[in-house]
Amino acid sequence: MGTEKSFGKEHVPNWSSPISTGGRGKMPSNMQKMASYKSQIEKIGTPISKEVYSKLSSYAEANNILLSGFKDFVGDIGVIKQVIDDIVVIARDFPLITSGKTAIELKLDYDMGTDFATTKGRHIIHLNAVYYSDLSILNADYTEGVVEGRFVSNTDWHSVIKHEVGHVVANIYHLNPMEIAKEVLQMNHEIQVLEYLTDDLSLYSTEFEDGREIISEAFSGYYGKAGNEFADKYVNRCIQITREGGTR
Ligand SMILES: [Zn+2]
Repeated sequence: MGTEKSFGKEHVPNWSSPISTGGRGKMPSNMQKMASYKSQIEKIGTPISKEVYSKLSSYAEANNILLSGFKDFVGDIGVIKQVIDDIVVIARDFPLITSGKTAIELKLDYDMGTDFATTKGRHIIHLNAVYYSDLSILNADYTEGVVEGRFVSNTDWHSVIKHEVGHVVANIYHLNPMEIAKEVLQMNHEIQVLEYLTDDLSLYSTEFEDGREIISEAFSGYYGKAGNEFADKYVNRCIQITREGGTR
């Protein structure tokens, strides 16, 4: 939960603003909910067979994505294949995320609290095993976040991975999410940018004053085809910058 680039439910913006900090009050119930999810999955969960695991790992390998922690996966490998497919689409614009030493690694993590996913290091994406073992839980909790304005409107659970890939792209291509936002919005002040994005992208995009969540929420909107004008402009600018080979 407390990790730097985690993408979860209970976070609230840490910049001074009139935005409600009611999210923190939700923590105990979130933790209770997570504990009950965990026990549900332990009860129904039978790890995938060796054959099914090897199918999944060939699929990942064919798409130049590394997997770890999936040998005891109790969920539907179709969900993980869809996660891989979502990464492959973004890799058409940012090829380094599926090549060589910068290729994304997906790690199944059983100890993530209420976070959906987290990016660690430059390109290791931890997926919360509790959510990814049961799509209906992931779907319901993500949708709740959309309804509450925390995540980009018109996005679904697929955007969890799109969000994390945004962090990986920023890390690998050395992009400065806040500087790009200022340029796209033609604004000089960070506070102006964050205020704008609270209404026009998502509350979560304003989570950190340095703007690190902006690129991720923009990826969520753009690759989620959410029809968000800012997200579309922003990601197009990122594509342009990286094609020019420059950092920003
Ligand atoms: Zn994030």
